[in-house]
Amino acid sequence: MIEAGRDRGLWNPAVEMLAPEALRELQLDRLMRQLRYNYEHSPVHRSKFEEAGALPEDIRSFADFARIPVMTKDEHRRVQEQSLREHGSPSALFGCAPPEEIVRINATSGTTGMPTLYTLTAHDVAVVNEMHARKYWRCGIRPGHTMIQALSLSMFTGGLPLSQGIMHLGACVVPVGIEGGTRRVLDMIALTRPHAIVATPSFGQYLIEEAPRQTGRPAHELGLRWFFCAGEGGGGDADIRRTLAEGFGAEVYDHTGGGHAFHGISCDHADEVEGAMHFVSGDHCLLELIDPKTRNPIEMSEGAIGEMVFSFLDWRGGPFMRYALGDLLQVWTSPCPCGRPGMRFKILGRTDDMLTVKGMNVYPQAVAGVVARFRPRVTGALRIRLDRPGPAVTPPLRIRIEHGGIEAAAIADLERELLLEFRDSLRVTPVFEWLAPGTLPRESGKIRLIEIEPAPAS
Ligand SMILES: [Zn+2]
Repeated sequence: MIEAGRDRGLWNPAVEMLAPEALRELQLDRLMRQLRYNYEHSPVHRSKFEEAGALPEDIRSFADFARIPVMTKDEHRRVQEQSLREHGSPSALFGCAPPEEIVRINATSGTTGMPTLYTLTAHDVAVVNEMHARKYWRCGIRPGHTMIQALSLSMFTGGLPLSQGIMHLGACVVPVGIEGGTRRVLDMIALTRPHAIVATPSFGQYLIEEAPRQTGRPAHELGLRWFFCAGEGGGGDADIRRTLAEGFGAEVYDHTGGGHAFHGISCDHADEVEGAMHFVSGDHCLLELIDPKTRNPIEMSEGAIGEMVFSFLDWRGGPFMRYALGDLLQVWTSPCPCGRPGMRFKILGRTDDMLTVKGMNVYPQAVAGVVARFRPRVTGALRIRLDRPGPAVTPPLRIRIEHGGIEAAAIADLERELLLEFRDSLRVTPVFEWLAPGTLPRESGKIRLIEIEPAPAS
């Protein structure tokens, strides 16, 4: 069945094509309304205004807004605990909508403590659905396509919110999840014949290795035309994307945004910012950059890097206001040669994952990217081993790395090439501990690249 408008390139052209000035105007208008709402309905938000010595009506520009103190995830967690203790509800202090309007609670993964919650009204759910539809539509997903969702489904934003968004677009979702194991994902691919898969890049790489073993056929015979990376940073890395594209014979896109209002998706344009994502939710989310240490604003200009701060612009449940998740972001404001609208960004890593070696900033995802360039002589699997938590690393940087099943002499050659590449790209000189292929555990939703273990006594 061909729907009217099925050939249009964007899900919602009227909004997605807004000129930057018109978008800024819409954002400011919505921001002022949102601030009034936040102030009136949430004690936590009200306290932020009090800290700044401002009332909502004092905020008339983006510069005024930058006076409101940033809220961190740790702070959010403390507020949640206090809210549970004093009010018997996690969202009494931070949330704005009355309980009878809340229809969904999602959580962040909570790998570093109590998960932080997103609370949504029906209105907010519709916003999230719209953003998912915008992302997949611009990549060519249409009603009639089937997407298999091979992410952790339990509670997290890559679970039900994503399933609902795919359904909202009108495509068919197979929410298999990864909790049932790789075999189950492969069986469901054979049974439902999806056109697209949503998975972490590391799970994708694992499927490329496992498909021949478990199905007797290579991954590119699974029939997948799209691979959507989610849940971890590798989808922004050109080499990892190439591995996935070749392994599956599929178009590879990286995307972000789960149960909230910050969403982006990469495009098929390859240039020096290959893998950057177009920001698709500017009408619902105001982005700012700040210096991770000083908290001062950084101008959103071409190539700027800073810690991402976001504010929801039309959110009823638990609206985030100048909220910093601890992600380090780079932005590009010039039009993308692909022609698709939306400022572009890349998530460079977590501000707290960042390591420093002799004063050089090193992002674990960048280390994985360098290693991936040496496939197939390496498998791509690695761990950065630290004696104690970062960011400061006492040199040398130690990396446990799997070779691709090559001889000792070839490993020595490979190591020399790797060292040159590390010096060129990242300005560090690591030491390598070589492991046989398949030594490092793979099968998990998210692979942590850093392991902490005290160095053996020498
Ligand atoms: Zn583009």
